[in-house]
Amino acid sequence: MSERDRSACHDEARWEPVIDRNRCEAKADCVAVCPYDVFAIERLRPEDKAALRGLGRVKAFFHGYQQAYAVRADACHGCGLCVKACPEKAIKLRARTPG
Ligand code: SF4
Repeated sequence: MSERDRSACHDEARWEPVIDRNRCEAKADCVAVCPYDVFAIERLRPEDKAALRGLGRVKAFFHGYQQAYAVRADACHGCGLCVKACPEKAIKLRARTPG
């Protein structure tokens, strides 16, 4: 478990972050700020790379095809710290589908 501040995370774990692949530049602010270690910077997956649009493709190339992934999305507590921290405004939260 992370030693980072979890005081802002008071909601139940029923949210998950969604990352806009055309905006993410792998700056890792989300990795640093998330109290539950939801994010990791990884190589852009082939299906995500194939779905990029014009400027998104250029960004991905210049950032070595690295992007943030919510590798532990089920640990999200919906605090919104990642949404605020992302300099590219690439992260939104959505309600998790039950089940
Ligand atoms: S909202 Fe973002 S920072 Fe907060 S727990 Fe979920 S993924 Fe982590």
